[in-house]
Amino acid sequence: MTFFENTEYRGHESIHQFYDPSTGLRAIIAIHSTALGPAGGGCRMWSYQSEADAIRDALRLSRGMTYKNAMAGLPMGGGKGVIMADPDHPPSEAFFRAFGRCVDSLGGRYITAEDVGVSVENMRQVKQVTNFVAGLPSTRDSAGGDPSPWTADGVFLGLEAAVKHRLGADSMDGLRVAVQGVGKVGYDLCRQLHAAGAHLVISDVNEQNLERARENFAARVVSPEEILHTEVDVLSPCAMGAILNSQSIPGIRASVIGGAANNQLATEEDGQRLFERNILFAPDYVINGGGIISVSMEYMGNRTKSEVHSQIALIPERLTRIFIAAQTQQVPTNVIADSMAESIVAAGAK
Ligand code: NAD
Repeated sequence: MTFFENTEYRGHESIHQFYDPSTGLRAIIAIHSTALGPAGGGCRMWSYQSEADAIRDALRLSRGMTYKNAMAGLPMGGGKGVIMADPDHPPSEAFFRAFGRCVDSLGGRYITAEDVGVSVENMRQVKQVTNFVAGLPSTRDSAGGDPSPWTADGVFLGLEAAVKHRLGADSMDGLRVAVQGVGKVGYDLCRQLHAAGAHLVISDVNEQNLERARENFAARVVSPEEILHTEVDVLSPCAMGAILNSQSIPGIRASVIGGAANNQLATEEDGQRLFERNILFAPDYVINGGGIISVSMEYMGNRTKSEVHSQIALIPERLTRIFIAAQTQQVPTNVIADSMAESIVAAGAK
């Protein structure tokens, strides 16, 4: 299938495929839009079943980054890097330097950072060959470093806004929250939820991650098959995308959904399905914008952690605007968010 015929193609500006024979690197970089600035978005390393799956993911994720950056008010367009490799078998430094050369060859149209399967250390290796990278180790007060804790901060604040809107709750205290995936973001989110008095139910396919969260936060563990359908107030998807679909939605028992995972809705119609079931969905690219806010401010230079914090503190108010508009117009939250993001990008393109 060609680029233009791909079902996930939505006017993307370009897609780039790279192969480095000396390290075996196979990478894809998709640039959805540079209307608001260089295309910013992390790099994901995953054992994709096929090249077609990797291309599809790059197309979906890069478009999501355009919307995410627009809604966060960042001077960045949307792009995403995808590396076809097993994250459980970390590749060599040379492998990430090769990826850095791919990024560099785009001359600054794409700015990379870490995502699933990729670490701060990997970004340090990328930095050896290109300046078009963020998510690097930072000094005590300056913006930078692993974006995951910032993402978790934004998700936590966003969930507070969502439960206020949907359940009239003033805090997470006493609420039951199911977290799917307790990796970098999910773990930090659990820490904040536990501290706020929430009762946690968790699931992960990685035993080590699961045990760490179970032990530290008195969380109840359920199987990956059960987590979406557990009886809770809030469901927080923090693993992979497309988990909200025609099969899973009928069994969901939470009344609020908000989490870090990108592209949680398998299709746009799944937003309508949630709306019909009266489940409040916090659009993922709004609630999980904390990490890219940090990345973007680091990339701009001379920004402090407290400035990152102030920007992330705007996430709940952005979500509340979406929730109110959705309620007033009686349409799903994803429709409202998409239309807001598209207006911002269209204004930028002019
Ligand atoms: P991570 O790899 O550290 O954590 C993901 C966790 O999900 C892992 O522990 C993994 O074992 C688990 N998992 C995978 N499949 C699962 C399944 N079927 N059921 C239960 N658990 C499963 O990644 P992360 O950085 O924490 O990111 C989590 C999600 O949030 C991803 O979708 C990522 O794209 C998105 N996101 C992350 C950031 C960030 O700053 N890291 C920012 C925005 C969005």
